[in-house]
Amino acid sequence: MQLSRRITGLTGGGSDGWDVYYRAKQMAADGIPVTHLTIGEHDVGTDRSILDAMHQAALAGHTGYSMFTGNTNLREAVARRVTAQTGLHTTPDNVLIVPGGQAGLFATHAAACDDGARALFIDPYYATYPGTIRGVGAEAVAVAARAERNFQPDPVDIAAEAAKGAASLLINSPNNPTGVIYTRETMEGIARVVQEHDLWLISDEVYDTQVWEGEHISARTLPGMAERTMVIGSLSKSHAMTGSRLGWIVSSEEAIHHLGNLATHTTYGVAGFVQEAAVYALGKGDGFEAEVATPFRRRRDLVLEMIEGQNILRAIPADGGMYVMLDIRATGLSGEAFANRLLDEHHVAVMPGESFGQAAAGHIRVALTVDDERLLAAMGHLIELATELAV
Ligand code: PMP
Repeated sequence: MQLSRRITGLTGGGSDGWDVYYRAKQMAADGIPVTHLTIGEHDVGTDRSILDAMHQAALAGHTGYSMFTGNTNLREAVARRVTAQTGLHTTPDNVLIVPGGQAGLFATHAAACDDGARALFIDPYYATYPGTIRGVGAEAVAVAARAERNFQPDPVDIAAEAAKGAASLLINSPNNPTGVIYTRETMEGIARVVQEHDLWLISDEVYDTQVWEGEHISARTLPGMAERTMVIGSLSKSHAMTGSRLGWIVSSEEAIHHLGNLATHTTYGVAGFVQEAAVYALGKGDGFEAEVATPFRRRRDLVLEMIEGQNILRAIPADGGMYVMLDIRATGLSGEAFANRLLDEHHVAVMPGESFGQAAAGHIRVALTVDDERLLAAMGHLIELATELAV
């Protein structure tokens, strides 16, 4: 039977650079000890107290259908957090609870794009972006952020694509995979372009608690942007709750109203006991969020220190997030070839830059998701291979 083009064309076909990841998983399954620096998942599980809150909530009866748009106490908690973080008055009517940031990415594009609309996104990008856009029947259009600009998007390049017609622009700061935080200048340039070309701005801010250098500017706070921005947040990274699937969209009341209708007709809401646990988790406050983020900052410093001690690899300034991106072009290999050699010869798995788009070719992404000792050992192997290749 013929399936829809929307679903069969979702991934875009072709090699996606994820072979290294699947090979590393297979090697580990075959009993070969591989150090995985691939996926953005904490090396610790969800905090025991949050799990207790989830358990208690389930026992207390939060097991039936919940409000499709999210329970009022959770929408209030998110609104309070957003108001405190951004200084922009945000109410529960500006908040929709969704099952994870990924569901938010899908819903916001469904809200911004009609069939066949062009939806812009910045390359290098988080792996699901183009497929998410295709999934709502829009056309995914990449705008390259260049390595020479340390992967800060150039508003001039965005304007050039926007001028051909577009419904939305998707940005991500702090950025996965580059670790870059968009500067104020970049953000203001983006705000200017989306207003000039009347685009929706979809701002993926799921790494907003992992900021090491500079400031994270939430897109909604820039002048004239609150009405045309949809911000995506999530507890996955900030609270080590990846498996709980709890995220949110923050936008205008009108957008949230319609996104609520979409939730009713797609997800039918988020598990009530997870929502109660989310209220509890948010109540743990900034101190807890800093505690979850701290290991990544420490490991990022360790990696940068090792990179400073050699002159073949160059680190992209990792201002935030769970990753460090390394320029490996001096080795003469592509990111993919380097990652394959590193896996075969040293049993260390990293992601080739190519798996995040063409703009990241010749780079690799190191996830800071193993303990310090293993990370240092893996970095030692990585530098050894680069040194060997460069001579
Ligand atoms: N956006 C970015 C940039 C991500 O890296 C991720 C997860 N890796 C997500 C969104 C989705 O996160 P979740 O659905 O777990 O909230």
